[in-house]
Amino acid sequence: MTRHVPALVVGGGISGLVCALALRKAGIEAQLVEASARPGGVINSVTRDGFLLELGPQSFSGTAQLHQLCEDLGISDQVVLAPPRTPRYILIDGELRSVPLSAPALFMSSLINGATKWALVLDILGKSTPPDGDESVASFVRRKFSAQLLDRLVGPFVSGIYAGDPERLSVRSAFPQLYEAEKVSGSIVRGMLRLAKTKKAPRGQSTLQTFRDGNQTLASAISRKLGAALLTETSLTGIVKRSDGSFAAHLDANGRQESVTAQSLVVTTPTEVTGKLLVSLDSQFESLMGSVEYAPVAVVSLGYRKKDVSHSLDGFGFLVPRSAGLRILGSVWNSSLFPGRAPDGQALLTTFVGGATDPAVTNLKLEELANLAHREISPVLLIKSNPAFSHVTIWPRALPQYNLSHGDRLARIENLRAQFPGMWLAGNYLRGPSIGSCVEQALTVADEVRHWLAQ
Ligand SMILES: Cc1cc2nc3c(=O)[nH]c(=O)nc-3n(C[C@H](O)[C@H](O)[C@H](O)COP(=O)(O)OP(=O)(O)OC[C@H]3O[C@@H](n4cnc5c(N)ncnc54)[C@H](O)[C@@H]3O)c2cc1C
Repeated sequence: MTRHVPALVVGGGISGLVCALALRKAGIEAQLVEASARPGGVINSVTRDGFLLELGPQSFSGTAQLHQLCEDLGISDQVVLAPPRTPRYILIDGELRSVPLSAPALFMSSLINGATKWALVLDILGKSTPPDGDESVASFVRRKFSAQLLDRLVGPFVSGIYAGDPERLSVRSAFPQLYEAEKVSGSIVRGMLRLAKTKKAPRGQSTLQTFRDGNQTLASAISRKLGAALLTETSLTGIVKRSDGSFAAHLDANGRQESVTAQSLVVTTPTEVTGKLLVSLDSQFESLMGSVEYAPVAVVSLGYRKKDVSHSLDGFGFLVPRSAGLRILGSVWNSSLFPGRAPDGQALLTTFVGGATDPAVTNLKLEELANLAHREISPVLLIKSNPAFSHVTIWPRALPQYNLSHGDRLARIENLRAQFPGMWLAGNYLRGPSIGSCVEQALTVADEVRHWLAQ
C-alpha cells in the first residue's frame, strides 16, 4: 500500500536534516529520506589511529540559529570554540605573514602597498556605485582597491570559502554583503562596519567552532531526534506530480522499491541529482541545475610528531595566493584550534588541494595527493620528517560555484519551482554554501512549508 506523508524531505545533509527537524517540531509528520547509510552529507568526522579527522567541513562559524539548534538538541556542552582572535596566515614569498583581522590592522599592515592603502582611504571618504550587470570578485576588487589586494588577501580568502576562481565568481552572488555595502553605503568599509553592528550571531558565538567529537555530532544528534522519521539507505528515484496536487515519490530502499505520496516536497540534494529527479516535472530543471559548476577539492589530513615540526603552529593555519605557484590552497592546523584532534605529542594538519583553478586534481592518486601536500607544506612549516599518518578524501564536486550569472540562474530556477506549488528546493547551491547559511535556508523553507500546509 502506498504511504501518504504531509511532507517528504529528500537528502539527509545538514539542509535536509534541519528542514525535517523544524517541520517535525512544528507538528508536521515529515519523512526524511537519505540515500547513504550515514546522515550528514559532506559533514563527516572519523577517527583513525587516534586522530579525529574532518573529511569535509573542518569547523563552522556560529550563528544565532546554530546556537539555538544546539540548545534544542542538548549538545551545547559539546561545542568547542577556536581560541578567539587566533592568528591566520598568508604565504607571501615563501613566508607566513599574519592576516590583519580588522580594517585598522589592514591599514597598518605591510602586506599591502601605499597605493592599496590610498584606495582604502578613497573608499572610506568617497562614494561609488556598483555596475548594473554582474561583476566578478576579481573585477570588483581591482575596480575598488588593487590587483595586489586581490592576489594577497581576497583571492586566498575566496579559496578558503569556495575553493573558487575570483575571475569567475560573482561578487553579487558569492559575497552579497560586499555588493550591498557598496550599493547602500557607497563604500565597502563603511557598509561592512554598518553591517557588523547588525550581525545576528550572539556575542562570542560567531567565532569558529566544532564539537568535541567533530562536526558529525550535529548530524547525529538531529538524526537521533528524528528517529524513524529518517530513513537512511533510501533514495528518491523519481517524482510525479499527481492530479490532486500531491507528489508521488518513488523510493529505492536498499533495493526494495516503494512509493510514497506527499502533499509537500523539499528537495535538498546536490544539483546534479536534483536536476535528474525533477526532469519528469520539467526538462528545464536538468539544464538549469546542470549549469551550476562545482569545484573539486582534495582534503589531505597529515599527522606529524610535534618535535618534527619547527613552526610553532600558533594559529588557524595558512592560505596560499595562486601567484605562489603551489597546488595547495591552504592548510588548517586542527590540533592547534581544537582539543582531541591528535594523539599526545602529535599535530594534525589538514591541507586542501585543487579548487576551481586546478580541476585536474581529481586525476591524482590518493598517495600522490598526500605526497604533494607534504612536499608543499614542509618548507613552510619547517617539517623535518615524513608524516606519521595520512588520509586523503577527494571531493570531485566539493563546493558549488556562485559564478557570473548565478543570480539569473537562481531566478530562473525559482520561477520554474514556483510552477509546482508544494515543492521547495534547499541546499548549498542556493543561498550560501556555509553550514550556517544552509541551516538558515532550511529553516526558512520549513517555515514556508508549514504556512503552505496550514492554508
Ligand atoms: C571539503 C569541504 C569543506 C567545507 N568546509 C566548510 C567549512 O569549513 N565551514 C562551513 O561552514 N562549510 C564548509 N563546507 C560547506 C558545507 O559543509 C556544505 O555546503 C553543506 O554541509 C552542504 O549541506 P547540504 O545538506 O546542502 O548538502 P549535502 O551535504 O551534499 O547533502 C546532500 C545529501 O543528499 C543525499 N542524496 C543524494 N541523492 C539522493 C537521493 N536520490 N535520495 C535521497 N538522498 C540523496 C546525499 O547522500 C547527501 O547526504 C565544506 C564543504 C566541503 C565539501
